Amino acid sequence: MENKKELRNWLDAFGLDHPLVIAGPCSAETEEQVLKIAHQLKDSDATVFRAGIWKPRTRPGNFEGVGALGLKWMQRAKEETGMLTTTEVANANHVELALKHDIDILWIGARTTVSPFIVQDIADALKGTDKPVLIKNPVNPDLALWLGAVERFYTADVNNLGVIHRGFSTYEKTRYRNNPEWQVAVDLQNRFPDLPLILDPSHIAGRRDIIFELSQTALDLNYDGLMIETHHNPDKAWSDAAQQITPETLIKYTEDLRIRKEVGEAAEFKNKINTLRTQIDVVDHQLIEMLGKRMTIADAIGQLKKDHNVAVLQSKRWNEILGKMILQGEEKNLSEEFILRVFKAIHQESINHQEKIINN
Ligand code: PEP
Ligand code: MN
Repeated sequence: MENKKELRNWLDAFGLDHPLVIAGPCSAETEEQVLKIAHQLKDSDATVFRAGIWKPRTRPGNFEGVGALGLKWMQRAKEETGMLTTTEVANANHVELALKHDIDILWIGARTTVSPFIVQDIADALKGTDKPVLIKNPVNPDLALWLGAVERFYTADVNNLGVIHRGFSTYEKTRYRNNPEWQVAVDLQNRFPDLPLILDPSHIAGRRDIIFELSQTALDLNYDGLMIETHHNPDKAWSDAAQQITPETLIKYTEDLRIRKEVGEAAEFKNKINTLRTQIDVVDHQLIEMLGKRMTIADAIGQLKKDHNVAVLQSKRWNEILGKMILQGEEKNLSEEFILRVFKAIHQESINHQEKIINN
């Protein structure tokens, strides 16, 4: 990554690069593991070392973290490598311990951001300190809940804030462990343009092969940084093994990632248009996903029609759909002509799918 842009707010004060790269294991496992990974990251673009000390697990019985003991290992990693450190805090006691062990940046986990009571307790425990806090999005795609957590910290006079986009859980299993729903983060960015926005591609992906492309999309959307889970032996990690990458891979990725940020004259126009174009790409991608989903349902209907010997074309049903879509389109300022053209094309594709099923 080259082409660093001017820094802003507390990232400046900490002398942190743009984009800010945070890397390190999902969990601190042993002192050797923490030190080994930190040393492997020492000369990379990552300037902040992450490790989970207390691990909130959705289901009990998984590794729940080494606890306060690991904070000493983090301190040692900082002394030996000069990297800053960050860990997740989920209650006032964690805050006290993390402060005592000189952790540089705290982050609030996705399962904590959903709870205004706990967020308030943590904000109160940090009242008036200048400790930077990164707030992960809540597990559900609720922008108000995310903003509410940010506001609780500001109100407690904790002002060095940033947000981490780690995706949103869905019942239906998709390509992602946590669906990115980029629009939620883009909306937040538009509302608070000065709040550093960091992508956590690891928890969005849940697998290592799409970490790079997610990171590139974030940079194209003008994010301020990345937090990437990194482990010297990912497959043997005690938590989130499938999504961790080696420090070596991280170094390769940061070399290959491109910041498309323009500088100089006409830069403002170009940067804005690049960000907007990436937003369009994200929506186009969602359109294809949705069309694919619609065809899968059409296939199931085709199968049912075949089993019950019903004709493919059902004109009455089709006219009802069209009428509804034209009305809904009007609300979104889409012309009747456009809706007719789009839905005729979609309908034709559904018919083709169903005919294939019936004739097979
Ligand atoms: C983590 O960063 O390891 C973690 C538990 O993240 P999240 O809160 O996003 O699930
Ligand atoms: Mn993790």
